Amino acid sequence: MGDFKHKHSLGQNFLKDKKVLIKIIDSVDVNEDDLIIEVGPGQGALTKYLKLFHANLRCYEIDTRVKKYLDSFVDEKTEIIYDDFLNIDIKEQIKDIKYKDLYVIANLPYYITTPIIEKIINAKVDVKAMVLMVQNEVANRLAAKPGSKDYGAISVYLNYYFNVEKLFVVNRSSFEPVPNVDSAVIKLARKDKIEKVNEEVFFKFVKDAFAMKRKNLRNNLKKYDLEKIESILNKYNLTLQDRAENVSLECFIDIVNELSK
Ligand code: SAM
Repeated sequence: MGDFKHKHSLGQNFLKDKKVLIKIIDSVDVNEDDLIIEVGPGQGALTKYLKLFHANLRCYEIDTRVKKYLDSFVDEKTEIIYDDFLNIDIKEQIKDIKYKDLYVIANLPYYITTPIIEKIINAKVDVKAMVLMVQNEVANRLAAKPGSKDYGAISVYLNYYFNVEKLFVVNRSSFEPVPNVDSAVIKLARKDKIEKVNEEVFFKFVKDAFAMKRKNLRNNLKKYDLEKIESILNKYNLTLQDRAENVSLECFIDIVNELSK
């Protein structure tokens, strides 16, 4: 790492544990005719392992100071783009690349974990799977199941598109510099079939249901037709006295479809 001055403001905690890097690439099946997007290659710790897939690779890095570490990765299938990932047009960027399946594999800059994931989903680029290193407590929320205290609107949102799984925890000592928190790797695998629902209404409804985490559904959903909502909740052995943290994705979808009738 030499005399490189890590920028805390850019979430620059570089991975130095080979075992973790191997576990990350072992968690996903990428073929030569696929495309991998890496957000934040940094000094290339993960990029080096992603290259082993011999797939098309596009890496987006905001900090041009790492160019000297990344130049050697560039070849006919690999491009490093120095830009803010949040500012790029993903669809536009990859439209000329011939690929079969798209993967996003990254050790994310933690200050923008959710905006990055949302950007990828909203780009509608049909990602087959994402394998992402995030803060451990964020991983718990993203992969939470109904009934857990970590289950929230973001868990439902991701579960709508993906099967979300927390793969393993990564101790803070695996990074340079050592951050204040532990991390975890999660895998989001695209669902074969996505349920039919008006997405705009659905996401708004889920957000409203979780608006006040400690309040029950009756209180959070006052502006909706509570009778209709209760009729569906009952099918799932729930009532308006329950909290949103007990409502499964299927139940949320059923409710929104009932409300849209
Ligand atoms: N992949 C490297 C590794 O595993 O060692 C670095 C990971 S580090 C946690 C996050 C990287 O994201 C840093 O290199 C940082 O400069 C970069 N980054 C931060 N904000 C970014 C943004 N908006 N767009 C692209 N890259 C960004």
